[in-house]
Amino acid sequence: MKTVSVLGVTGSIGQSTADVIRAHPDKFDVQAVTAHTNVQKLAKMAIDLKANCAVIADEALEKDLEKALAGTDIQIMAGEVAVCNAASMKADLVMAAIVGMAGLKPLMKAIEQGTQVAIANKEPLVSAGPIVLEAAQKSGTTLLPVDSEHNAIFQVFDAKQKEAIEKIILTASGGPFRTFSMQEMESVTPEQALAHPNWSMGDKISIDSATMMNKALEVIEAAELFQMAPEKIEVLVHPESIIHSMVEYADGSILAQMGAADMRTPIANILNWPERVSTPGQKLDLKMLKRLNFEALDDERFPAVAMAYEALDKGPGARIAMNAANEEAVQAFLEKEIGFLDITACVRHILDAEHPQDINTLEDVLAYDEKMRGAAKSYILGKDNKERKAS
Ligand code: NAD
Ligand code: MG
Repeated sequence: MKTVSVLGVTGSIGQSTADVIRAHPDKFDVQAVTAHTNVQKLAKMAIDLKANCAVIADEALEKDLEKALAGTDIQIMAGEVAVCNAASMKADLVMAAIVGMAGLKPLMKAIEQGTQVAIANKEPLVSAGPIVLEAAQKSGTTLLPVDSEHNAIFQVFDAKQKEAIEKIILTASGGPFRTFSMQEMESVTPEQALAHPNWSMGDKISIDSATMMNKALEVIEAAELFQMAPEKIEVLVHPESIIHSMVEYADGSILAQMGAADMRTPIANILNWPERVSTPGQKLDLKMLKRLNFEALDDERFPAVAMAYEALDKGPGARIAMNAANEEAVQAFLEKEIGFLDITACVRHILDAEHPQDINTLEDVLAYDEKMRGAAKSYILGKDNKERKAS
């Protein structure tokens, strides 16, 4: 039996993780499950997965959770600190599936504990990658990539032959607006942007996929997880999302991992690693596919990916700025405060400022993240956005 805790169990990755766990009741024992505000779903998942402990991040909802779990012997905790405590409970593996920088502190707690971490939550790797990796090295934690591209690379990356790896090729679906002109993208709604052609995911990553900021975050995620130089990481548009990514070796061999666009495959791969088990996920029928398409990324219509290379070059402050500005802009777009193209415009604006290099601790990251969110919010309010006012 493997003891697993799931941070963000009510989310898209959390639900897929629960599916994989439920398919193998003989293999997994659930320690803690956490959620932000959805008490009813959290309670249902805790009962369903026979978890020992359920944690709601919003402290004000503690009584509601108690009510929802009355009559069970599931331990209840509430608040941000409680989520961190759940992350450091004794377990063999923690699934880090909180969205955004809210996941950073619990992730660090799991790592400090030396627990194996299945990492879906990519934003902390963008903003605090070197700190996260250093902590993992110190405690002996293995970070296991859940993100489909990074999981694909993980499966075909021969670490013993790292010198012979010419490049990592991250595939990108191109999102729902892959063929849209700038003019067409100007007026798209959150509803259109949330409708991803291949994947069903949480709101934030769906918008990130539409702007291609998701691929930008993933370039930095790959640089960290595989310790690869940015110039050895390439992005290739592959609209079908069948090849999840590739590694090219010096001899010209390109190894790819393929599968249906179903997160239960990478999740099962990681939950059972280094073994393989069946999943309730979709299987791929290559006869039905007939062909796969590839195209170069259009940096003009989708400027986000180039910003990731720029942020990697500029250093730690710029990476935090890029991620923080994006999180704030996505939220504002979902709330219909700004247009779709304003998301990358906001990130561009924030990234263009001077950013510090001396970011060495978790506290430094959190403080600069806060500062950059403030800067992004004032951009969004139009305070320093004269162009938008004029138009
Ligand atoms: P989601 O919005 O569906 O779920 C997010 C989860 O985090 C929920 O359980 C929510 O309760 C919790 N949460 C949100 N804010 C919180 C807070 N302030 N404190 C504590 N908990 C909080 O998101 P998702 O699509 O499952 O994505 C989760 C992470 O995995 C993201 O970083 C995303 O980029 C990454 N990821 C997702 C997918 C996917 O297919 N959904 C694929 C690859 C990577
Ligand atoms: Mg991905």
